[in-house]
Amino acid sequence: MNQKELTELIRHFCEERDWDQFHSIKDLSIGLSTESNELLQLFRFKDEKQCEEYLANNRKKVEDECADVYYYLLRLSDLYNIDLNQALENKMKDNHKKYPKELVKGKNLKYNEYE
Ligand SMILES: [Mg+2]
Repeated sequence: MNQKELTELIRHFCEERDWDQFHSIKDLSIGLSTESNELLQLFRFKDEKQCEEYLANNRKKVEDECADVYYYLLRLSDLYNIDLNQALENKMKDNHKKYPKELVKGKNLKYNEYE
């Protein structure tokens, strides 16, 4: 399924359950953050090697949390008319200005740390 079809699938799922009433911008943002943290939780207290092993052995759990994040992102963008593709395209233009390759190549500094 493409992004539009997934958005419609989620919309239909929520309409059948009368969940629109629970999907304020605030609560969807909280849901997005919560699911992001559930993804993070999977790797808590693990070093880099343990994280790689965890991913190899628990791929479904990681995929499920990524799907939860995507669900909230698509739901929020659908209800509040955010064109995710356009927003990302705009943000990448900003990122090109914020992180000129001549200054940041091979560095992981934040934009305000290399000036
Ligand atoms: Mg989850």
